[in-house]
Amino acid sequence: MKTAKPSPETATPHDHHHDDDHAHTHANVQAVLRTSPASPASLDAALEMAEAYCRERGEKLTPIRRKVLELLLTSGRATKAYSLLDEMRQIHPGSAPPTVYRALDFLLSAGLIHRIESINAFAVCHDLTQCQHGILVVCQQCGNVTELHEPKLRQALVAQIEAAGYRLSGDGIELKGVCAQCQAAQPSPAEAAAQS
Ligand SMILES: [Zn+2]
Ligand SMILES: [Zn+2]
Repeated sequence: MKTAKPSPETATPHDHHHDDDHAHTHANVQAVLRTSPASPASLDAALEMAEAYCRERGEKLTPIRRKVLELLLTSGRATKAYSLLDEMRQIHPGSAPPTVYRALDFLLSAGLIHRIESINAFAVCHDLTQCQHGILVVCQQCGNVTELHEPKLRQALVAQIEAAGYRLSGDGIELKGVCAQCQAAQPSPAEAAAQS
């Protein structure tokens, strides 16, 4: 089953009908958009890509939407709305919460970012274009997000869920975890027990 994001009637030349297409057409995109802080060059590239994507959909990446996306790209991890608001206020002192929430809503509906429910935060999609979302693995300690792009794995999972009579309530599949850096930064449960 395909759950491609809604796209404008005008399908792009590289409309994804085959999973194999994905690896080829987006190999460079994935290289640019890891969930780590973006370098200035990749930041510009990502913002340009997002802008082109919105234009293609007949929507506009307004300065405020762009800024919120930029903050998320720069952070490189899942970030809470109030932190984004704080950062916005450093740039535009008068920024009101609804401005930031509306920008987040837009970015969510455009599929450019994910809502990370387990830690109530937002993270940039690994792929700022109209491909399917992958499976998100979220570090519950630092907000690092890795998007596993394995369409077959996702399809198998969704098929099992549907076979069990369920329908997913969103296109996000989120797994909770602790990233490598956070694991390295603290003793394992066994080590902690040995020390106490
Ligand atoms: Zn995604
Ligand atoms: Zn972590």
